[in-house]
Amino acid sequence: MKRHCTLFVALVLLLPRLAPAQTNPFSAPSPLPFQAPAFDKISDSDFQPAIEEGMKQRLSEVEAIANNTEPATFANTIEAMERSGAMLVRVQRVFGALTQSNTNPALQKIQSEEAPKLAAHRDAIYLNPKLFARVKAIYDQRASLNLDRESNRLVERSYRDFVRAGALLSDEDKTTLRALNKEQSQLTTDYRKRVLAATNDAAIVVDTKEELAGLPDADIAAAAEAAKSRGLTGKYILTLQNTTQQPPQTYLKNRSLRERLFNASVQRGNGGPNDTTKIGSRLAQLRAQRAKLLGFPNYAAFNLDEEMAKTPDNAIKLMTDMVPAATAKARDEAGRMQTLIGSAFKLQPWDWQFYAEAVRKADYNVDESQVRPYFEINRVLRDGVFFAANKLYGLTFEERKDLPVYQPDVHIFEVTDVDGTPLALFYADFFSRPNKSGGAWTGSFVGGSKFLGTKPVVYNVENFTKPAPGQPALLSFTDVTTMFHEFGHALHAMLSTIKYPSLGSTPRDFVEFPSQINEHWALEPSVFANYAKHYKTGKPMPKSLVDKIKASRTFNQGFATTEYLGAALLDMAWHTLPPDTALQDVNAFEPEALTRFHINMPEVPPRYHTTYFSHVWGGGYAAGYYAYLWSEVLDDDAFYWFREHGGMSRANGQRFREMILSRGGTEDPAALYRAFRGRDPIVEPLLIERGLKRSPADTRE
Ligand SMILES: [Zn+2]
Repeated sequence: MKRHCTLFVALVLLLPRLAPAQTNPFSAPSPLPFQAPAFDKISDSDFQPAIEEGMKQRLSEVEAIANNTEPATFANTIEAMERSGAMLVRVQRVFGALTQSNTNPALQKIQSEEAPKLAAHRDAIYLNPKLFARVKAIYDQRASLNLDRESNRLVERSYRDFVRAGALLSDEDKTTLRALNKEQSQLTTDYRKRVLAATNDAAIVVDTKEELAGLPDADIAAAAEAAKSRGLTGKYILTLQNTTQQPPQTYLKNRSLRERLFNASVQRGNGGPNDTTKIGSRLAQLRAQRAKLLGFPNYAAFNLDEEMAKTPDNAIKLMTDMVPAATAKARDEAGRMQTLIGSAFKLQPWDWQFYAEAVRKADYNVDESQVRPYFEINRVLRDGVFFAANKLYGLTFEERKDLPVYQPDVHIFEVTDVDGTPLALFYADFFSRPNKSGGAWTGSFVGGSKFLGTKPVVYNVENFTKPAPGQPALLSFTDVTTMFHEFGHALHAMLSTIKYPSLGSTPRDFVEFPSQINEHWALEPSVFANYAKHYKTGKPMPKSLVDKIKASRTFNQGFATTEYLGAALLDMAWHTLPPDTALQDVNAFEPEALTRFHINMPEVPPRYHTTYFSHVWGGGYAAGYYAYLWSEVLDDDAFYWFREHGGMSRANGQRFREMILSRGGTEDPAALYRAFRGRDPIVEPLLIERGLKRSPADTRE
């Protein structure tokens, strides 16, 4: 398979004129409804030639725009750019989705070969002086062009994109920038690879089943299977998750094993063959140098200039304002656990989840095995998630079994608008499998754009445990919340009415707002009663159990908030370093930074340490991990708007749809929010929802 792929690529490179323009499934828009990807026709060997051909086509289209002898106009420059690169967009959307949710060695190889080429491709466009001169000419005349609001916004967006990519720099600085971009693309790819390897290597081998006492049977079976697959039949392997804290610590009675697991987790990437300390430190330095070239004092300032927060100080203030309440609550939680432990030993980070679970049982009496039978996956999807979208936005959903999928577990639904118009396709890929990355996310195979005449083709990917054949998939309430969350992102994409594709994205600190507000509907009484029914009897969940779920919602929030703030402030500390800073020693930098922000709490380490903080060093969240909290301020505050205006209704949903969900990046998000709420967001609702502050008039549990 791999050899076949390589041979195919070699032919394409040697004989570019024979590039399979007719046969490659990405060379033309898919003929399927909604231009849904023709997964029955796409094979792994199609991707690399399509990416290469796509870059070539886009470059020649962009050259033609840049070299046009006519004076620059909105149509022949800005709109022409929006139309360019269609093939590259098609292949990258599908390729990007599959490398995350259904990858294999062939796709991984293509990914590392193409990443630096794609970085250079981007520079070739944004650092093209002729092209920028045309964009700038339109930008400079925009006041006299009589453009509509969205077109005007697009002109400003395009101009800013060029400037932020270095278009105003001298040739010498452009050369420096290209080198920094190339190094960054290599280092981030290297970081991801090393973290994956370090995480796999850090898995714990356990010799006997007795040591695993407390762990659920299904997890013990999985640990035995993991050992077997590594040639250690008869032993057990505990594999690591991406976060500092590891799920088995909730159950393992053996304290020294909990400690071993914890140490393996926090030591990942800190020395050894897959050391990442130097990569993080160098990335921080080179990002600061890039920011300086582009006129900013540090990388965070450069990044946040495009975000709703605007400045690092605003983001840092939101977080540091919460530190006292979060750490005080975490100390309360620790105190409650120490009471359970007694004087035998002092609570350590590897004890936290084990004793938190004991407190949860004692104080809230919630037993997960009692809850799950009421959350059967199909019922949650149709009678919960879809039902809520119908109540709020009038949408209806019909499964389509006639369209091809990339994996048999994937289901496709056609989404119809309130007036009967076909709106979008929605793909649900819910179950965990070894070739899928951890976590949950949303993306689009096709972006909705009135200009291009395309409708959204959106997917949700989750990692719920797949049941044995013939058994129902029964979810935890956390899983249910995740399903509502990701569907909120899907709604944001499906309900967008934007014209130009470049205005489809919103700042990162706004993008979690539509997803997080959708989580609130999971517990809305009319929605909850509609889906939370026993999978065998169809009976609704008893009120006592519902009350327990509600009451335990703020449980352990001191811990959760503190570990999140630790990681988010660490991210800010790295990315506010000035450009002339020497390479930092990670092991000295981290404690100093956490102490500076008054969040160095030994029992509650950051959710990610620098050596395995992939969001920041290997993903797109550099100086951006604060975004979840920023969006949470918006979603809790907006949820209170619904509450103050009669709650969940079609009228309120329609208002939210029109003022927020349909607007994409066509307006400043702060202005969008202000128009919806009637004022700027306030942090109070978030503090109440997290149990960090009491509502003065709180009559709810
Ligand atoms: Zn999200």
